[in-house]
Amino acid sequence: MLYLDNSATTQIHPEVKEAMLPYLMEEFGNPSSKYYSVAENAKNAVKEARHSLASLIGAHDSEIIFTSGSTESNNMVIKGVADYYSNHGKHIITSKVEHPSILETCTYLEDKGFEVTYLDVDKYGRIDLADFEQQLRDDTILVSLIWGNNELGSLNDMESISELCRKRNIFLHTDATQLVGKIEMNLSDYPGITFLSCSGHKFHGPKGIGATFIRRDQYDILTKITPLLHGGGQEQGIRSGTLAVHNIVGLGKAAELAEKNLKKNIKKLEDMESYVSLILKDKFNDQIVFNHDTNHKIPGVLSVQFKGANNELLVKNLAPVMAVSTGSACSSSKPSHVLAAIGLSIDQVRSTVRFSLSSFIDKKDLEIFKEL
Ligand code: PMP
Repeated sequence: MLYLDNSATTQIHPEVKEAMLPYLMEEFGNPSSKYYSVAENAKNAVKEARHSLASLIGAHDSEIIFTSGSTESNNMVIKGVADYYSNHGKHIITSKVEHPSILETCTYLEDKGFEVTYLDVDKYGRIDLADFEQQLRDDTILVSLIWGNNELGSLNDMESISELCRKRNIFLHTDATQLVGKIEMNLSDYPGITFLSCSGHKFHGPKGIGATFIRRDQYDILTKITPLLHGGGQEQGIRSGTLAVHNIVGLGKAAELAEKNLKKNIKKLEDMESYVSLILKDKFNDQIVFNHDTNHKIPGVLSVQFKGANNELLVKNLAPVMAVSTGSACSSSKPSHVLAAIGLSIDQVRSTVRFSLSSFIDKKDLEIFKEL
């Protein structure tokens, strides 16, 4: 079976597994403990992993707060900013194509008296900058916009979004879950981004571990938010709880490998994406429509309508040979809100299949597309 659902999750890299194993066995210490070796070793391993992730995204080590993943990071930032800054305003801007961990958090806040603007998107799922600028208000305390879409792969123009937020002095959070480890990123080029979410299992790291980037201000103070988890004060008091050292080590190794192989992997994924597109075009002609853009996107994500087909049946029938999906695994029980937001009819949504590749794939295995 060929695994083509890498936007849902990825297989752990063998080197990641090897790096984690000692921290599940002999190196079991609590990094908050002191003096004895297993504690010091755990502390050092966490330090190294933090550095690897910071280096991958162009951040300072002290701007990385480990969490359980992007769902937690997204909740942490949105609820944390809303709570801490509610005296300054109660308006939040997001878009219609965000992950449920953003949209459901915003709905929750609406019930608590916040006002949320959900921006429309174009046919590839990108926000319109002029529309965005118009929606910014004096009482806007947070903008949260996805950087790379999980169903279409399209990238928002984060440079311009970041610049607009910086000029207006409004906090910008971006859900970069699908991008980190897959495209080059240097957060010092995006000074308007105050918060970012990412997750280990999307780039060959373990599940249950991710991070929130929180920018340090000009006085070197971490931007203040209300913590989601109160307790022992780990992670600079922003995210209490004993650190999951084995998972953190795995995330760090995945980050290190992603950084080392980034250029090579991007090229490979672009090449494989074109190859799959060619085969599909050749085989199905006008019976298919590509929903994704071919430019300015995460390499290796294809969203394809098979005219007249039922995507649930298609995915089910393909399952013995190919693991694909109808869209996001986190909203698989209902038709995609992302595809609806880009203007597809319900029939078009119900005929769409997402193929998401990874650098683990051998190009020649993609010839299976010729047999469809
Ligand atoms: N945001 C996006 C864009 C995602 O694709 C996902 C994972 N499906 C998440 C957030 C949630 O990430 P996690 O699984 O780490 O909670």
